Amino acid sequence: MSSSEQAVRPEMPVSTDVEFMLDGRSPDAVLEPASEQEALESLAWATRNGHAVVPVGGATHWQFGNLLRAEKWAALCTCKLAGIVDYSAEDMVVTARPGTTLAELQAVLAQQRQFLPLTSPLPQVATIGGIVATNRQGRLRAAFGAPRDRLLGARIATSSGKVIRGGGRVVKNVAGYDLCKLFAGSQGTLGLLTEITLKTNPMPEEQRSISFLATSLAHGCAGALRLQHDQLDPAGSILRSGDKPVLSLLLLGSKTSVDWQEKRIAETLTGLGLVRSETGSGHEDWSEPPLPAIAPAAFRLQARPTECGALSECLLRHCGTLSVVPAAGIVEGVLAEGSDEDVLHAVQEIASTPLSGGYLTWQKLPASVKHQIDSMGPKRDDFELLRGVKHTMDPAGMFSPGRGLGGI
Ligand SMILES: Cc1cc2nc3c(=O)[nH]c(=O)nc-3n(C[C@H](O)[C@H](O)[C@H](O)COP(=O)(O)OP(=O)(O)OC[C@H]3O[C@@H](n4cnc5c(N)ncnc54)[C@H](O)[C@@H]3O)c2cc1C
Repeated sequence: MSSSEQAVRPEMPVSTDVEFMLDGRSPDAVLEPASEQEALESLAWATRNGHAVVPVGGATHWQFGNLLRAEKWAALCTCKLAGIVDYSAEDMVVTARPGTTLAELQAVLAQQRQFLPLTSPLPQVATIGGIVATNRQGRLRAAFGAPRDRLLGARIATSSGKVIRGGGRVVKNVAGYDLCKLFAGSQGTLGLLTEITLKTNPMPEEQRSISFLATSLAHGCAGALRLQHDQLDPAGSILRSGDKPVLSLLLLGSKTSVDWQEKRIAETLTGLGLVRSETGSGHEDWSEPPLPAIAPAAFRLQARPTECGALSECLLRHCGTLSVVPAAGIVEGVLAEGSDEDVLHAVQEIASTPLSGGYLTWQKLPASVKHQIDSMGPKRDDFELLRGVKHTMDPAGMFSPGRGLGGI
């Protein structure tokens, strides 16, 4: 028996909780470690009791993934594993425990006029562990990249009862393979992130949102791509479906540069037939809305930016709402309500959309449809490598078995 197993306390927090339902199944236990050592004890407890473990932060994106393949499972909640460990404003580097919410982190950084360019929905609830494990980024992606691009280091508790460390607390931190990046987007299938180091950004002097009405999604995409071509790239962009699709742009920088950019963008887009709408300011418009609870299914498609216009026009007929981040090649759709049969039919049609090099993932699917469709999209050429990584990092298959791509 390992030292961490001997240390398991009889009062290990174990309960059942319907809040943590996954595809209609409630967990057999909920574990809430308050330190890295307690996280290792929780994993040892799960090993001894034959439970699979699914990490959970704010549960805002927890339903994303294939069906869990385990008889007994525990939700490993990071709510008590929270707080900032270290923040060096001069070096623009922050280290936090995984259960720290995005809002909490932004509030601390704002005191030093810094921020993390991440736009998770429900920032008061979404945790930095979940954000890194999901590696999802939407509206600001073209300018700031994904959470992976901000990740400098991490500590991870593994199913073998050890803590591994990748990267560090400095910007130039890696010689050789950058191990911690492997956990960005791992969706809780490889291990539990127990500490995360990220690089921060300076807060711009001026932030301004401007909007334009397009005649169609393809028209709006063409406008956004022209801005890219003319090197007028806004920091954020989003095109939303509607009677008249709205292209919203976020401008960041000094007041002089934002004034200049706004003028040039307005000239370019009105020249292409888009019509100026209202002007706003700030980040508040830029946090992603959460998925509506009644939405039966939602997808995210990553494609070539030049294909987004045609793809969005074609997919719109299946959707209640659809949005595009043209510069990053992201098309996201929320399916309209319908009978189970209608939803399955729409899902199958969307899944068969021909793509030249892109891929499709399902952010939400009814459990009945998850039996028939891989939420993570079709297996790609690197699938065997992915399986090898899973086997190396989690040989016991304890972390979220079945939930990853191809059911790994
Ligand atoms: C409509 C919509 C739009 C979104 N847009 C964005 C966006 O633009 N930018 C963005 O950053 N995110 C976006 N997200 C993703 C998401 O909200 C967050 O990025 C993140 O998942 C929230 O964290 P959480 O604490 O709620 O994670 P949870 O929902 O609790 O967990 C998400 C995943 O991470 C795993 N996980 C959680 N904590 C850990 C940990 N400590 N160690 C290992 N694995 C862990 C879980 O097992 C699960 O697979 C979007 C989600 C939705 C539904």
